[in-house]
Amino acid sequence: MDVLDKKQTILIVDDSPESIMMLGALLHMDYTIRVANNGAKALKIMESDNCPDLVLLDVMMPGIDGYEVCKRLKANLHTQNIPVIFITSKTSEEDEVRGFEMGAFDYVTKPFRPVVVKARIRTQMEQKKYRDFLVNTSYCDGLTAIANRRRFDEHYSVLWNLAIRGHSPLSLIMIDIDHFKQFNDNYGHREGDIILARIAQMLVTSLKRKTDMVARYGGEEFVCVLSNTAIAGAVNVAEKFHTDILSMQIPHAFSTSGSLVTISQGVACIVPTKNLSPETLIISADESLYKAKKGGRNRIEL
Ligand code: GH3
Ligand code: MG
Ligand code: MG
Repeated sequence: MDVLDKKQTILIVDDSPESIMMLGALLHMDYTIRVANNGAKALKIMESDNCPDLVLLDVMMPGIDGYEVCKRLKANLHTQNIPVIFITSKTSEEDEVRGFEMGAFDYVTKPFRPVVVKARIRTQMEQKKYRDFLVNTSYCDGLTAIANRRRFDEHYSVLWNLAIRGHSPLSLIMIDIDHFKQFNDNYGHREGDIILARIAQMLVTSLKRKTDMVARYGGEEFVCVLSNTAIAGAVNVAEKFHTDILSMQIPHAFSTSGSLVTISQGVACIVPTKNLSPETLIISADESLYKAKKGGRNRIEL
């Protein structure tokens, strides 16, 4: 579903059941509501994968108070851009300034006027929706709708650094469609585009683990990075790509490597260290791919 159509989620954080009830009643028609009655639970929900779009945060709570929750959300890369609105009975100017200094997007004092609160939340949610849309668009390849080169570069860099710290192997697969120029020349560029998108989607579907990523590297070439994966595991993935693409049975009567659309793959694996460049692994996978092409295509080389 498109980011723009998705029903957004609000996390209500308050130790008072009455406040939660009141806000929930006000907002549940327009948003999915989640609740936390203390700071620790709120942080746990926010650190999860499916993190809410906005936080309504009470200040005075036993344990971790609202200011501290806000501070920690803003310190975490994963949650720092999620809007936080304080809803609190702390009404002094000093409190309000402190809330904004903590990174709050808005500050509402209790008792609040429901219609006004609803309007202020709507404004934040609309802006959040368009920010999400822009981020998504800038990371997504327009033709195939999978991760683009920019998204890959960022993810690869994160995995590379994690692998250095964990002394763990990192694998890379370069994937290139065989004789795709011939495909375009004979079936038309439009049909070429459709096949490119279908193949991209199939590669994504073939992957199982959340940290693995396949992205469009350029033209009819894709790249797949596999964290904490030694060479045998990477070859398994490449073999799955190979059979999954073949199983699509896309006719290519103008290929010299068979009658179907096929891919060539170059696999490489490394245990990254501080004095190695992340480029090393990419170059190595590229060389393997070149070998696969030279060796007759429709194959995997290491
Ligand atoms: P090889 O087996 O050696 O990889 O041959 P190839 O023809 O696939 O490779 P080559 O690099 O000679 O040509 C790549 C082709 O991929 C040419 C280009 O038209 C096609 N291509 C690249 N990007 C797109 C795209 O976005 N849409 C379509 N339809 N074709 C594309
Ligand atoms: Mg090609
Ligand atoms: Mg190519």
